[in-house]
Amino acid sequence: MSGFNYHKASDVADAAGKSSSDDALPLAGGMTILPSIKLGLSDPSDLVDLAGIGDLKGVSVDGDTVTIGAMTRHADVAGSADVQQAIPALAALAGGIGDAQVRNRGTLGGSIANNDPAADYPAACLGLGATIVTSNREIAADDFFKGLFETALDAGEIITAVKFPVPAKAAYEKFPNPASRYALVGVFVSDGPAGTRVAVTGAGVNGVFRQGDMEAALGGSFSADALEGISVSEGDMASDLHAASDYRAHLVGVIAKRAVAAAAG
Ligand SMILES: Cc1cc2nc3c(=O)[nH]c(=O)nc-3n(C[C@H](O)[C@H](O)[C@H](O)COP(=O)(O)OP(=O)(O)OC[C@H]3O[C@@H](n4cnc5c(N)ncnc54)[C@H](O)[C@@H]3O)c2cc1C
Repeated sequence: MSGFNYHKASDVADAAGKSSSDDALPLAGGMTILPSIKLGLSDPSDLVDLAGIGDLKGVSVDGDTVTIGAMTRHADVAGSADVQQAIPALAALAGGIGDAQVRNRGTLGGSIANNDPAADYPAACLGLGATIVTSNREIAADDFFKGLFETALDAGEIITAVKFPVPAKAAYEKFPNPASRYALVGVFVSDGPAGTRVAVTGAGVNGVFRQGDMEAALGGSFSADALEGISVSEGDMASDLHAASDYRAHLVGVIAKRAVAAAAG
């Protein structure tokens, strides 16, 4: 660790300006960035703290859209009566992230900016057809997640909120790593204004992805039976000390059926 300059941003424009150099990074809850610095995996020159920007926190519902500020903590999404009412699957997903300490520091914006291949929120964004709002544009979730720890964000671009369309049906199921609770495989399914969607996290060799064969089958009949016989390519699955690719491929089918059964209710 070579040290860094700490800045407390006063508003979004200030944060964007101060984090626009290649070596500067925004700081949300610090749940990923601080351990990364300690382990020598990241060496930013400047950290720009977003914690003092009130506009970035909170949940609002406008018609069929739930908007969640980027600095909203997982515990606050899980406990929000508005999210529980409008998209219960999203509240449940937030409540299943990590442990109480992580949920009380980790944020929606930090999670999707980091785009860990085993994180839960990327599956919700892709699985609901969300829109990521940043300091200078809006990005469809389909265009946001670019691969392992990669997103469409430019240097100095701050996520301000995520807009989630309210689905008719949705559920998230995951097979968690028993230590971290990160998804070994997690599947978010929904049916609603953004179409029929199946988003898979934890499993893909390139991170979160949509499973087109399952979406087509569920478009015909939104039932777990519709997924019978759909196989997931082992070659597209990650393989590591936690699980081999063939095991993950099998799990995607099992967890997807559970999610559809839960969503179909
Ligand atoms: C022990 C442990 C267990 C965990 N388990 C899970 C789990 O089960 N499921 C899961 O999904 N996640 C899990 N996490 C991740 C956690 O939920 C956090 O979401 C994640 O670590 C990001 O933390 P943060 O929000 O504090 O962001 P930070 O660590 O502050 O930032 C992360 C990255 O995002 C960037 N960033 C942050 N905010 C913004 C913004 N608004 N705009 C642009 N860039 C931004 C930062 O520059 C940095 O690169 C776990 C983490 C830990 C430490």
